[in-house]
Amino acid sequence: MTDFQFITPSEVMEYLFCPRFVYYMNVLKIEQHEHRRALVNKGRNIHQLKLVQNKDYLRKKAGAKDKLIDVYLSSEKLRLVGRMDEILFLEDGSAAPLDYKYAFWENRIYKTLRYQQVLYALLIEEHFAKQVNKAFIVYTRTKNHLEEIALSSKMKGQAKEMLDEVFEIINLAQYPKATTTKRKCEDCTYRNLCIS
Ligand code: SF4
Repeated sequence: MTDFQFITPSEVMEYLFCPRFVYYMNVLKIEQHEHRRALVNKGRNIHQLKLVQNKDYLRKKAGAKDKLIDVYLSSEKLRLVGRMDEILFLEDGSAAPLDYKYAFWENRIYKTLRYQQVLYALLIEEHFAKQVNKAFIVYTRTKNHLEEIALSSKMKGQAKEMLDEVFEIINLAQYPKATTTKRKCEDCTYRNLCIS
């Protein structure tokens, strides 16, 4: 079997939702219905994005002195490809990904979103040889609320472990354990296939 080459942070987010998604999608190649994709991609609204991207005060608030917009990065070492809305270069010499979400700020950062940012951080660190200690999310439906997420070395290590686990499922065709959160199964695309 040829080893699978690259995955995206979105695929790792699917893995975090339930490891079996990776098996169904990448091993058995059974596409899920659009609704989960829509959930993962919620916050992608190009028109809205363009409007907010004109607002430089958000970057100033984040402590940025320079930026790159709509950046695509890949890493052979990590076997990861990702597209970021922006990369900010901060006054303290570090860098940070910034993502726009067409969503309301709900006073919490979901684990999936947090680790998506950690994966972006790993890509940025490799490409720009800069430390990435934080990420920023702009919630455009709550008056462009700017939320800062701290990214630790421990989280980066965990994200690398997640990548290894995803590749193990794909390359060894390993059927993973089901999610322990049973309510996720209730409206899951794969519930008819799934052996619990
Ligand atoms: S039915 Fe449950 S265990 Fe199976 S893939 Fe869906 S969420 Fe995961």
